[in-house]
Amino acid sequence: MKLVVDLSRCQGYAQCAFLAPDAFRMHGEEALMYDPNPDDAQRERVLRAAAACPLQAILVDQVEGQGAPVGTSRS
Ligand code: SF4
Repeated sequence: MKLVVDLSRCQGYAQCAFLAPDAFRMHGEEALMYDPNPDDAQRERVLRAAAACPLQAILVDQVEGQGAPVGTSRS
């Protein structure tokens, strides 16, 4: 699965790190580190963490297309 955290929104409340510690980790007081490609086995925890984020800063599986190769339809 794909995961993006909008770090400009994230205020380091750490709910995500509490709910899905394998995908999110606090580094120091406020800096959030995260795994952008967590294993699908973590999906439920990650979704719970995304729902719990008070700032809705966690985006799950919303990056499809953005990372798609550009210009593949050219001949
Ligand atoms: S729960 Fe949201 S605001 Fe808190 S650390 Fe995680 S992403 Fe940031």
